[in-house]
Amino acid sequence: MKVTIFGSGYVGLVTGACLAEVGNDVLCVDVDERKIDLLKAGGVPIYEPGLEEMVRKNTAAGRLSFTTDVAAGVAHGLFQFIAVGTPPDEDGSADLQYVLAVARSIGEHMEDYRIVVDKSTVPVGTADKVRQALAGVLESRGRNLEFDVVSNPEFLKEGAAIDDFMRPDRIVVGTDNPRTAELLRVLYGPFNRNHDRLVMMDIRSAELTKYAANAMLATKISFMNEMSALAEKLGADVEAVRRGIGADPRIGYHFIYPGCGYGGSCFPKDVKALIHTGRSVGHAPAVLEAVEAVNDRQKAVLHDKLKAHFGDLAGRTIAVWGLAFKPNTDDMREAPSRVLMEALWADGATVRAHDPVAMEECERIYGERPDLVLCATPEEAAEGADALALVTEWNLFRSPDFQALREIMKSPVVFDGRNVYDPQRMADEGFIYHAIGRPEVN
Ligand code: NAD
Repeated sequence: MKVTIFGSGYVGLVTGACLAEVGNDVLCVDVDERKIDLLKAGGVPIYEPGLEEMVRKNTAAGRLSFTTDVAAGVAHGLFQFIAVGTPPDEDGSADLQYVLAVARSIGEHMEDYRIVVDKSTVPVGTADKVRQALAGVLESRGRNLEFDVVSNPEFLKEGAAIDDFMRPDRIVVGTDNPRTAELLRVLYGPFNRNHDRLVMMDIRSAELTKYAANAMLATKISFMNEMSALAEKLGADVEAVRRGIGADPRIGYHFIYPGCGYGGSCFPKDVKALIHTGRSVGHAPAVLEAVEAVNDRQKAVLHDKLKAHFGDLAGRTIAVWGLAFKPNTDDMREAPSRVLMEALWADGATVRAHDPVAMEECERIYGERPDLVLCATPEEAAEGADALALVTEWNLFRSPDFQALREIMKSPVVFDGRNVYDPQRMADEGFIYHAIGRPEVN
């Protein structure tokens, strides 16, 4: 089938590559010329395991191509996927300018029936806005062409995006047209072979499902972080509590890890947007507001602990392990590492940081500055540091040579933002060790 995808970011590029992988003819359109030039030259602008190989293979096979030519994009696919960004606006609502710009572009260039698929995360009612924007342009062209708008939110996780797309837990499709539903069933057939993963519903429910999923996951994290704060005050160990509650299948072990807060391009903005939606319809979203407030507080926890330990941080050198908002991605949007580093810089401290893939992104965000030293290895980052803060739980950081680490650090103090290390072992290795919601062992 012929598919056009607007937006070649994490979602658009993965969607395009995976749809091409199963034999579709995919054209990816982006307004960012540099991105498209790089993709045409065989490069991939983001780090996502397996993506580069998949893009290269399908490009070589002629099933996947890239363009900035919007008209060519609209002419190409029966399916017109919208996978552009929906960043938070100043008031927290989702900014729909990119989504609606694509809708208008489709209206400007279409000459035949098209299925417009909203894959971006968009508030309830956006499909109606897309329909209106597109219809408005068609009307101004004096054209009466048929089209459908479908909501098909994406649930992939950065770092495991290919696998999530190829073997999805569910494929949510919101449509009011049975014929379109059938066409999407055919498009998604190759990803839906062993079990029927398609969950068909009305458009508004599909739009809300994406927000509900992310808000639920964010709630689990903030709930556990709340428990970690209580555990700290009460002399309990939140890791024991985690195992104790996770054993209940109604709760489960997934997504109940306490830590230094959630980040990334989705949870913070989607919780914000859902709060805004709630308020706009006269509903006070009390749970969501608490989820956000707890997370904001949690992102400051490592800095608070550093301050509590050292008092004045001016002139201190802090090693930061992990810059990406989670392992296996180079994405630093809303990353807890940023909150920590910015607070340290404000205090006059120097950061020596290492991340296996996000250092280029860090440099892009912060540029060169004297109080940021990006180091080639975790050990190099720890050299001469007054303390080490582990922010992202990359596998690489899980089992360091503690003895060597103690020798290269100026003082053996570790702040573990992901509860990766064992407190007793850290004490035995001679470290002063601070974790999240765990009692200290001396
Ligand atoms: P991204 O910022 O990585 O990519 C968006 C791309 O869209 C950019 O390359 C940008 O240049 C391009 N773009 C902007 N306007 C355009 C236009 N008019 N025509 C063509 N291209 C245009 O964003 P992302 O992380 O891929 O997210 C896209 C959407 O998917 C968002 O709504 C996000 O909430 C949602 N989502 C993201 C994830 C994730 O893990 N990143 C997961 C599920 C859903």
